[in-house]
Amino acid sequence: MVVGLQWGDEGKGKNIDELLSSGTYSGVARFQGGANAGHTIMAGNTTFVGHIVPSGALQKEVELYIGNGVAVDVVSLIKEIRELKSLGFDVTSRLYISNRAKLVSYLHPLLDRADEHYRSRGGSKIGTTSKGIGPVYSDVRARRALLIGDVNLPDFEEKEAKFVEFQMNFLKMYKENYGFDFLEKEIDEAKSKWTEAIRELKKLQICDLSFLIEQRLSEGKNLLAEGAQGAMLDIDFGDYPNVTSSNTLPANVCLGLGVSHRALRNIYGVIKAYTTKVGGGSFPARIRDAELENAFQKAGNEFGATTGRPRMCGWLDLFALRYAIRLSGVNKLFINKADICLSDEVKVVTGYKKSGVILKEFPLRLGEVDDVVTEEIPGWGAKNHGVKNKENASPELVSYLTYIKNKLRDLKVDIVTVGTGQDREDSFTWDN
Ligand code: GDP
Repeated sequence: MVVGLQWGDEGKGKNIDELLSSGTYSGVARFQGGANAGHTIMAGNTTFVGHIVPSGALQKEVELYIGNGVAVDVVSLIKEIRELKSLGFDVTSRLYISNRAKLVSYLHPLLDRADEHYRSRGGSKIGTTSKGIGPVYSDVRARRALLIGDVNLPDFEEKEAKFVEFQMNFLKMYKENYGFDFLEKEIDEAKSKWTEAIRELKKLQICDLSFLIEQRLSEGKNLLAEGAQGAMLDIDFGDYPNVTSSNTLPANVCLGLGVSHRALRNIYGVIKAYTTKVGGGSFPARIRDAELENAFQKAGNEFGATTGRPRMCGWLDLFALRYAIRLSGVNKLFINKADICLSDEVKVVTGYKKSGVILKEFPLRLGEVDDVVTEEIPGWGAKNHGVKNKENASPELVSYLTYIKNKLRDLKVDIVTVGTGQDREDSFTWDN
């Protein structure tokens, strides 16, 4: 499996694409989240930004799986399938969707916005992508959600009508009690797009995915599970409530796909050479020099793939990373964006402080952290863009990577490759 170890946007899509290019894996599966994720893959002249279709879309031999743990936005799904077709990648014959995956209704995104409106009254928006994923998972826990497999049942329309009626009551509650406004027209538009997408969905391969995966594994095939967001956004172990609405940690692969832990092999973790974060909540490693942060945003193109929002930029946060590695059991590490360095000295966060005391454990709330412990390392400027082997990497970058490796030594993780650009070819392998 491949998971992000920071706050998402680590460049997982590119690494998954890289792993799939090796020909080792015959399929790739999403196990959590939904269209609130955004993966950018560049191969030759083709760029594809996927939100719900797994990252192997540009590998014609690879099967694509959407697991039961995923909240499926059918409108996004159908749009991406069409876009891929226009790029020369017809994925319909190799895409399988779990009949137990969760269905995003046309009112879920609106309810997501209503929730955010409600929270903003207390000044604490989460900064969701408004794709409706949080409200779907709430419905799952309340045992009233619609499942993807339901669309093929004879009573689907009846079930859907009841569910929508219930959701409308929720919306009215938000309107009457909290002043959340919406237009009937936008509901009508969302409904008609959604209804058309459901018609298309019915033509796709909806199946017992857990069984299919079991079959593939028993045929001796290797599969890859693709995480969305990152470990620091895990609903249980992130900075609650500034988290995503699913478990992003590798332990959730088993539940989100219906596979046993015995099926798990390597756990690849992905980080950037620095850190970024979108959404609400504290970000202790944030670069405090606004001009420098802005320069990182521009150089690293740090604008959300789903929302276009600028991402906050920070130094590499080793304290958070060690926590994420401990929880994930990662044994292999990808380090991306090593080509982005804009200062003569880079800082690394090695600890968090609260009231002058260095914390031993990761705090319950990041807002408790009032200072950080940092170390400074020489920077490497723009010298490493597109570097394809370690020998050509600048000595400053090599010492930065060696420093990281040493700081993580006791956690027993090997660095696999180091990314130096957006393209599939822009990376070098690290000899541990
Ligand atoms: P994901 O959700 O983790 O796949 O990450 P995103 O796709 O949202 O963001 C990663 C962005 O960084 C994409 O635009 C990638 O093309 C880009 N990227 C990935 N690796 C590198 C790298 O090593 N260097 C540079 N400059 N860009 C990279």
